[in-house]
Amino acid sequence: MTIISTPVLILGGGVAGVSAALELARRGVPSVLAEKGPRLGGRVRDFCCKATQACVHCGACRLGDLLAEAAARPEAAFRSLALAAEAQREGGVWQVELRPQPDEGEADPLAQPLAEKTTVNAQAVILAVGYEPFDPRRKTRFGYGRVPGVMTALELEAMLGQGVLVGHDGQPPESVAFIQCVGSRDESLGNLYCSRVCCGFALDMAGLIKEGWPETAVTFFHMDVQGYGPSWEEALPHMRQAIDFVRAMPGEVSAGENGPRVCFAGPDGQPRSREFGLVALSQGLTPPASAGALSEMFGLNRNQDGFLGEDAALAVSGAQGVFVAGTAQGPRGIVESIDHAALAAGAAMESLFRAGKEAAHG
Ligand SMILES: Cc1cc2nc3c(=O)[nH]c(=O)nc-3n(C[C@H](O)[C@H](O)[C@H](O)COP(=O)(O)OP(=O)(O)OC[C@H]3O[C@@H](n4cnc5c(N)ncnc54)[C@H](O)[C@@H]3O)c2cc1C
Ligand code: SF4
Ligand code: SF4
Repeated sequence: MTIISTPVLILGGGVAGVSAALELARRGVPSVLAEKGPRLGGRVRDFCCKATQACVHCGACRLGDLLAEAAARPEAAFRSLALAAEAQREGGVWQVELRPQPDEGEADPLAQPLAEKTTVNAQAVILAVGYEPFDPRRKTRFGYGRVPGVMTALELEAMLGQGVLVGHDGQPPESVAFIQCVGSRDESLGNLYCSRVCCGFALDMAGLIKEGWPETAVTFFHMDVQGYGPSWEEALPHMRQAIDFVRAMPGEVSAGENGPRVCFAGPDGQPRSREFGLVALSQGLTPPASAGALSEMFGLNRNQDGFLGEDAALAVSGAQGVFVAGTAQGPRGIVESIDHAALAAGAAMESLFRAGKEAAHG
């Protein structure tokens, strides 16, 4: 068993965790970051550039900048395949036991795989364990896994990242539909919150489709369009010319003769149906898989949507010396997650400073 002492332990090596480590390092505060998987970068690793004529500010390339800086910061130590199993606080110090995870043979040049059980003694802990994309199987009526040509927005993004677009019959589709708010703003699931990033993500992909496959018709089924970033206001009128915006939440997606058939209510309230070569479900963000285990381990609060911590503006968790960064606290985009991580790092530094002052005064 190895024992490491560090001012700050960070759990999770996505953009939020890496940003928190860098923010601390820039101020000369050492940290240890434990990522449960083999690689740093989290979900953003899988995102492609969505620039068409110009950058659409999706934020994906920020990860490359962060990892380049991380490589040059000796204050931040990165451990991969490291999962927190137990935690206790004694004398103002968190003792967190990390356990090695199975090696999948996918080494990260920046992170050293955890070789054995390790106890990390840290004065502050930052939880940056991210989110889970909503599982569309929970909304059976949308046909995911059952109707050929229905996929998630993340699967479509992976395909576009390879420069490929194929629909239900293995051919480039003549038409693509996006269905928004899958798993978000949904009373039947108890997920009333907006996931904030999925409208922008879908419309950026619609832009890529219109650029690469200009003959493909794109339809956008939505309740509202959640704006994202300042360039949005300018871009939306152009998008409305190229994309068919349909304000309706489809009732059902079934297998049609020429691809998935989407049933929805028209503006007159009458039922309509249309077939598409491909239907992409814009799944939202849900709380991290480890939210329950971590809240128990550290005695944390969870907010009304099930994410970790309480107050988005303060990155506070409800447990002494524990802070929350990025999407672990609630839905937000890449740039916002980076900013939120800076907030969490600031709060952690303040707690170190306060503890130092208290120790000096006996
Ligand atoms: C469909 C969809 C589209 C999106 N599109 C965009 C977009 O266009 N633009 C945008 O800005 N954002 C977008 N986002 C949001 C974006 O993915 C997040 O903002 C970003 O990934 C947040 O980073 P994070 O570090 O908080 O979390 P993550 O990327 O989830 O990283 C968390 C890390 O923590 C690790 N981890 C988890 N649990 C533990 C544990 N217990 N111990 C140790 N490590 C752990 C994970 O392995 C992972 O590496 C999208 C999200 C979705 C679902
Ligand atoms: S922000 Fe997104 S669209 Fe812009 S260059 Fe980076 S990856 Fe490409
Ligand atoms: S960002 Fe758009 S698709 Fe996502 S939950 Fe909000 S309104 Fe729905």
